[in-house]
Amino acid sequence: MPAYRHVLSGKVRELYETDDGLLLFVASDRVSAYDVVLPTPIPDKGAILTRLSLWWFEQLADIVPHHVVSTDVPAEFAGRAMLCRRLAMVPVECVARGYLAGSGLADYRATGAVCGERLPAGLVDGSRLREPIFTPATKAPQGEHDANIDFATVAAELGPELAGELRRITLAVYARAATIAERAGLLLADTKIELGHACHPRAAEGTLVLGDEVLTPDSSRFWPASEWQPGRAQPSYDKQYLRDWLAATGWDRTPPGPELPDDVVAAVRGRYVEAYEKLTGERWS
Ligand code: ATP
Ligand code: MG
Repeated sequence: MPAYRHVLSGKVRELYETDDGLLLFVASDRVSAYDVVLPTPIPDKGAILTRLSLWWFEQLADIVPHHVVSTDVPAEFAGRAMLCRRLAMVPVECVARGYLAGSGLADYRATGAVCGERLPAGLVDGSRLREPIFTPATKAPQGEHDANIDFATVAAELGPELAGELRRITLAVYARAATIAERAGLLLADTKIELGHACHPRAAEGTLVLGDEVLTPDSSRFWPASEWQPGRAQPSYDKQYLRDWLAATGWDRTPPGPELPDDVVAAVRGRYVEAYEKLTGERWS
């Protein structure tokens, strides 16, 4: 039985390292909103997002290798953990957007551009972009919000070659995932991935590997295609339902957040289950 040393508590995940240099990613049932972890867990959330992420890694494997080594994990983490190769993470959040929402919409309204990509006039909340764009962001230290940056800044910091690879892979992942989501009746508005370099001696030098979790409602906006209507906020499988409920309570977005009543917990859980079932075509339980 290998030893697991705890190395990090994220907002929703716990990270351990093993004696043989692997990382154990454990997804908890915690939920965060506006970067604040709420006091009430969402039952099964960690397991749902882990299983969804694993499913996506397989769908993307011919585009980019992923960091998962095994799901054979200690019993207490069963179903909500993955053993992964340790990567040297590229210090940029790789975001692709096919539709305008969130910080992309805010930047467009302020400047007419997102991450230096000038967009046509007249776009509104939820507009489909002529083609998907790469909109990188800095990885903010804990407690701070990620900031959008332009491609030139990424190229200056990481070199044009690596920057170009990040963009190519991110857009390819987006295109594949958007096609799969559309078959399930969902639009993939945007998604964030994290890439890193394999440090394993046997891995080819310079190979970029997909890390973290992928294409979950926590990292991506999925919209029901049948209800898409630019010009308003779209119904969504991400945490928008929770954010709206929180906004109505008058909570000022500083810790601690309010306890969630049972019906809100059930509604949030239901959205995670529905996203999982629609995307994978598999029953959750
Ligand atoms: P949050 O995502 O809740 O805003 P966070 O990013 O600080 O907070 P986690 O996402 O739980 O917390 O932390 C996971 C960390 O592990 C991130 O910094 C991510 O970049 C990093 N990471 C992901 N995959 C790997 C990997 N294979 N090897 C090394 N680090 C990884
Ligand atoms: Mg994270």
